[in-house]
Amino acid sequence: MKILIAGGGIGGLTAALCLHQAGHDVSVFESAPELGEIGAGIQLGANAVKVLDSLGLRAEFDKVVVRPEAVRFRLFDTGETLHEVPLGQAYEDRYGAPYFHVHRADIHGILARAFMQIAPEKVHLNAHAAGFGESADGVTLRLADGRSFEGDLLVGADGIRSAIRTGIVGEIEANWTGNVAWRATVETKRLPAHFMDTIVSNFVGPRKHVVIYYLRRRELVNLVGVVENDQWRDESWTSKSSWEELKADYDGWAPTVQALIDAVPKDECYRWALFNRLPIDDWSTGHATLLGDAAHATLPFLASGAAMAIEDGRILTRALEQESSIAAGLQCYQRNRIERTTRIVNTSTAMGQVYHQPDADGFRRQFAAAREAAAANTGGPPDAWLAEYDPNTVKLV
Ligand SMILES: Cc1cc2nc3c(=O)[nH]c(=O)nc-3n(C[C@H](O)[C@H](O)[C@H](O)COP(=O)(O)OP(=O)(O)OC[C@H]3O[C@@H](n4cnc5c(N)ncnc54)[C@H](O)[C@@H]3O)c2cc1C
Repeated sequence: MKILIAGGGIGGLTAALCLHQAGHDVSVFESAPELGEIGAGIQLGANAVKVLDSLGLRAEFDKVVVRPEAVRFRLFDTGETLHEVPLGQAYEDRYGAPYFHVHRADIHGILARAFMQIAPEKVHLNAHAAGFGESADGVTLRLADGRSFEGDLLVGADGIRSAIRTGIVGEIEANWTGNVAWRATVETKRLPAHFMDTIVSNFVGPRKHVVIYYLRRRELVNLVGVVENDQWRDESWTSKSSWEELKADYDGWAPTVQALIDAVPKDECYRWALFNRLPIDDWSTGHATLLGDAAHATLPFLASGAAMAIEDGRILTRALEQESSIAAGLQCYQRNRIERTTRIVNTSTAMGQVYHQPDADGFRRQFAAAREAAAANTGGPPDAWLAEYDPNTVKLV
């Protein structure tokens, strides 16, 4: 099949590699002048790592990732540990692949280099998808500069503001979640020695939380802070904001948080508004479909948006292989993705209630309940449904 992918982000490139691996003729159309990603971290569970492994990329990832030992939930001011979820070798043994922290530029670079090695002429830059037309035989992708390209299938992997989504489901505004995110990275050498174990530290507090973890062989520390804020609506991932406001947002928080914020380069604080997409039950036509944030953008509270985009690429590829027509393949793909991605979107939103309690007692109650649930669940941690999913082998219904 001749497959056109709008969007060369993590989702679009993973899908391109999966579809190419299955023998399709794949082209990627990216609106930016070059393939790239921003300077922030990303967490990936075994469910996503299994897809990257199946693309033969593990050795490249091993050069740049950090494998955390645990996720530790801590009270915002005292730093008291409220709940801990083990990761490390036990997680890998249970789920068949490790848990990764990876710099976005690193994962994107690995995916981009892999695709450029096999099909450099199939990557179109400065190629902004504006819409598409469809006939019984195929699809025509229209670019904003007037060019058009024909194919058998169009995949909209063009992010939360997807132009392809508008063509498939109509104009529906992205949903404002009332949260803004801070992001910054700090060189580990700028921090006190033994700053933090190799874990994810998630400090939870009233109306905000902050997640801290190592990146790039522990050379960097990543900060992602989420704050409920009705005022800030700027959605750009590259909008800078003042260090003083970041500092003020976490005034009175634990020493680890303070030490990290104090070391953040003053002109390298980014802040952007968090939108998501309310779940829908149909995102395909006969020859076009959506993938990643274009289909199911979520709040980041389960750290799973990119993982869902990665899973989508493998399931789309398998669904097309399994069914005898493109339309049936697309129905199979979305049938096998909608329930899981809807659960991610809804559970991520619900996690806001857990992370943003009004007071310390509320947090202690929430996390005591989480500990009890984990202890009662002999089959594994309560969030096992996320990691045990294997996109390469899960039975397609
Ligand atoms: C604060 C925060 C933390 C997060 N942390 C995690 C995490 O730890 N783990 C995790 O799994 N997920 C995380 N996510 C979610 C993750 O970032 C997204 O789900 C993921 O980037 C989606 O990938 P995508 O390829 O679908 O879309 P995008 O990353 O948005 O990529 C879309 C691509 O399409 C291009 N494009 C846009 N419009 C067009 C067009 N019209 N034509 C052509 N190209 C176009 C863009 O330039 C871009 O390259 C987090 C998100 C946030 C906000």
